[in-house]
Amino acid sequence: MDEQVSGNKNGLQSTHKGANQYMRMFGQLWRSRALVFLGGRCEHCGNNDSRVLQFDHVLGGGKTELMSGNRNSHQRARAVFKEPGKYQVLCANCNWIKRFERNEQSGYLKTGGI
Ligand SMILES: [Zn+2]
Repeated sequence: MDEQVSGNKNGLQSTHKGANQYMRMFGQLWRSRALVFLGGRCEHCGNNDSRVLQFDHVLGGGKTELMSGNRNSHQRARAVFKEPGKYQVLCANCNWIKRFERNEQSGYLKTGGI
């Protein structure tokens, strides 16, 4: 007899592989909720493929706070809900282009700042 998995809505796969698996799934759930919350597509080009969508700090400078990787995806997603005006959704391409143009990428285009 299989044990019924509680909270297993929307066809999410629960494989009972342990806490790490659960946390990853939990983080992805938060991430997708936050993406939808912010419109679910890239602000620049309209790409709505969630595989390449990323959260971006509207004013820049948030990468150390939000993008550093020190926080897990769950915490990052929660930050979006707390302060929705601060974040937007960009696809990976537009995110890189924006960083490039804003000289946020250390080592590239040191033009003396904006
Ligand atoms: Zn884009």
